[in-house]
Amino acid sequence: MFKQIELDYAKDALEPYIDALTVETHYGKHHVTYTNNFNAACEKAGITSDDAAAVLADLDSVADEATRTALRNNGGGYYNHNLYFANFSANPKKAPEGKLAEKINEKFGSLEKLIEELSSLAATQFGSGWAWLSVAPDGSLVTSKTGNQDNPISLKTGNTPIIALDVWEHAYYLKYKNVRPDYIKAFFEILDWGKVEALYEKAAG
Ligand code: MN
Repeated sequence: MFKQIELDYAKDALEPYIDALTVETHYGKHHVTYTNNFNAACEKAGITSDDAAAVLADLDSVADEATRTALRNNGGGYYNHNLYFANFSANPKKAPEGKLAEKINEKFGSLEKLIEELSSLAATQFGSGWAWLSVAPDGSLVTSKTGNQDNPISLKTGNTPIIALDVWEHAYYLKYKNVRPDYIKAFFEILDWGKVEALYEKAAG
């Protein structure tokens, strides 16, 4: 039985960047629905694993197409939102240090350049989807964007996501309406680089 992560901040703690009503709706409704539907699909498929990433990496083992699609969409929605909500803080660390900072400079030249690239991927994702920063098996960093609830795991890239930027309209429409780029800027104001560092260390081993 998969459970949503607990938020370690209050629902209004991300104001003014992400408003309380959006957190209540996004975490309290959308994420709940993905979680419930993921659990239902797992039950249907006879999956008892408690590792969502492992389920998403092994979708081909599910023979029934409708169940496989339900696992991909709702398992993705479950996993992606856990990562999305876990990376925020009311008082975020504003820049990474250590190994992650080194890897960012090595690949992108600077943190600003990485943020520019992720912002551009997020802004140009046509329709619903996500922008990602992931860790490759050799510890290097990879950016990407995906549609719907697909992610680097369900797409079998072999990479582990450490930043998930949700650009579904439900993530920003209540406050930012059609102005997705303003929401993307706000995302980076509350992204906690200390949390991303910890995810990097875990993924890179
Ligand atoms: Mn979402």
